Amino acid sequence: MINLFVMKQLIILIGAFLMSCAATQKTVEFTPTTFANTITAEELKEHLYIYASDAFMGRETGTEGETIAINYLKGEYESLGVKGGMPNGDYFMPMSLNISRESRTIDCNNVLAFIEGSEKPDEVLVITAHLDHIGVENGQINNGADDDGSGNVAILEIAEAFKEAVTQGHRPKRSILFLHVTGEEKGLLGSKYYTDNPVYPLENTVANLNIDMIGRIDNLHEDNPNYMYLIGSDILSQDLHDVSEAMNQTYVNLDLDYRYNDPTTKVFERGRFRQNNYYYRSDHYNFAKNDVPVIFYFNGTHADYHAPTDTVEKIEYELLEKRARLIFYTAWEIVNRDGRLQLRE
Ligand SMILES: [Zn+2]
Repeated sequence: MINLFVMKQLIILIGAFLMSCAATQKTVEFTPTTFANTITAEELKEHLYIYASDAFMGRETGTEGETIAINYLKGEYESLGVKGGMPNGDYFMPMSLNISRESRTIDCNNVLAFIEGSEKPDEVLVITAHLDHIGVENGQINNGADDDGSGNVAILEIAEAFKEAVTQGHRPKRSILFLHVTGEEKGLLGSKYYTDNPVYPLENTVANLNIDMIGRIDNLHEDNPNYMYLIGSDILSQDLHDVSEAMNQTYVNLDLDYRYNDPTTKVFERGRFRQNNYYYRSDHYNFAKNDVPVIFYFNGTHADYHAPTDTVEKIEYELLEKRARLIFYTAWEIVNRDGRLQLRE
């Protein structure tokens, strides 16, 4: 029969042992990889085969195809349990856009979904992709699988990963706005509308990660498809660039190509070499011009750019998964790090 004192000692020892096991296990479990791994090629493909299907008729701003697209996005957020980002909880931000080059006004919507931060809910990271494309031309549907179906489905998967983190008790410290903008192909109009009428003040917007075409390989990288172009990452904030580089080195190991960070670097487009000007050519620019640090994620142009041949079967889904995971990790660090990203002097 055991001595009472010894038994007490034993119970204390066993208790301490169990607690240390639990603590160890918790540290091991808690890495963003658990959630990054919910972003899969298979699910990206499932979403894209719907989002860039003929039923969406090329998603031109102000058309029925675009209405189908915004309702699809809303439905996906509802089923994920991620709430709408408008002040009243709605997903749609309605606007009337004056399309000067077509001399008409059209009614359309941005789509906003929101995860509130736990510690600094007023500081917001905005992740964008343009939900629209160029519609039907000469009787042919432009499905825009890469441009920018790839960006929209990447955001859906990133939102799912953050939602899973919330469910498991790891709500981000800062808030995240998932913003699908309209009117990009008409001149960056939906993102301009948002930054002219921000739902969350721009001075509290810590960064914008903009995804526009990340599902393909351009002809400069046929021999090294493990790449992505990043544009703008160090222009307004060195912190942002450093976070992005560190996340890539720790978790993803893509070859990050910065050649288009210089807007004067030449690209061959529409029959001749021109300055790329990519820093000014997608929705991040409306944030950058308001001093919000940005990264534009991009795979470069290809023969199917703005053509009916930009279709779902040409997308590299494993590569899309890897690129989307890098954006997730970068977002994770931005919203969970102690200090807000600092602007350059
Ligand atoms: Zn685009």
